[in-house]
Amino acid sequence: MNLAAFTFTGLPTRVLFGEGKLESVRDEAARLGMVHPLVITGHHQSALGRGLADQLHGVHFDGARMHTPVDVTDQAMKLVATRALDGTIAIGGGSAIGLGKAIAFRSNLPQIAVPTTFAGSEMTNILGETARGEKITTRDAKILPETVIYDTALVATLPQGLAATSGMNAIAHAVEGLYAVDGNPIISLIAEEGIRAMASALPNGEMARGEALYGAWLCGTVLGSVSMALHHKLCHVLGGTFDLPHSDTHAVILPHAVAYNADAAPDAMMRIARALGGADAAQGLYDLAQSLGAPLSLREIGMVESGLDRAADLAVANPYPNPRSLE
Ligand code: NAD
Repeated sequence: MNLAAFTFTGLPTRVLFGEGKLESVRDEAARLGMVHPLVITGHHQSALGRGLADQLHGVHFDGARMHTPVDVTDQAMKLVATRALDGTIAIGGGSAIGLGKAIAFRSNLPQIAVPTTFAGSEMTNILGETARGEKITTRDAKILPETVIYDTALVATLPQGLAATSGMNAIAHAVEGLYAVDGNPIISLIAEEGIRAMASALPNGEMARGEALYGAWLCGTVLGSVSMALHHKLCHVLGGTFDLPHSDTHAVILPHAVAYNADAAPDAMMRIARALGGADAAQGLYDLAQSLGAPLSLREIGMVESGLDRAADLAVANPYPNPRSLE
């Protein structure tokens, strides 16, 4: 094997995985020294958060919103300060987990993340925040949750449409890890297995949610370890400036971003296709999204044609490193 030199940085998150693992949250909170935690959810998961906050002598905040608007973080930070809270426990998709990360970045409080979608944010030291119509991404060690609890029972309730797009969101992390400017063979192994697990689980619906959650963990690990490229840049612009729904946007953009990069990243394309069990990476991703009933066009998810030029300008103004140069 002829290996090029590389750098690998492992991220130190403690992970608990399995059905019913949410039961461990009290012990994990104690392990991190939390006595009065802030329990964070979105509106839809309010009842779950309230119950947990009561059980843990904490305070519940159910205002988490997509793309982590800074004004929502400011509200939650006031609660943390006035109630002398000593940690965060975020239960939900990337929106709840994003708010937990935003608080940890500002306060350095310990965090537990309990994901209920496949977005993968819990495994990264990346925070995407929105202010004045733009999404800004920050990487910092304080942002990475100390503990992640993957309870497979929590993803059983995911509606099929959200499972499909959230799963495509996870696959996007692994895809871009395979051609990342700072990629390495260890992360490529994790990425390929993440795509394989996710693509094998998603068509099997509720029967395979556990395997999908395992895939989401792997794909999130990839995103946390190496750089993002064109696909993520486009999704950040479309989410942050045009408020398009996060996972739908990933599902739409991914096959096209991969097709654009295909000639510039042949080894990554071979590995993506192999993980999907097909011959062509971009076509395989498109076929997977279509078979799952995911949206396939920006128009379907609310993008206005008049915004396309501005989106393209923003995407190339401050680009992420990408295998093919941007035109
Ligand atoms: P989300 O967290 O907004 O959840 C989408 C909807 O699904 C919400 O209404 C939520 O209440 C509902 N939901 C969540 N889990 C459910 C379940 N098990 N059953 C039924 N309904 C459920 O969306 P998302 O796609 O998970 O996360 C998107 C956000 O995460 C964006 O802000 C994105 O920027 C961020 N994100 C960040 C990173 C990172 O590394 N920084 C990675 C991925 C995503």
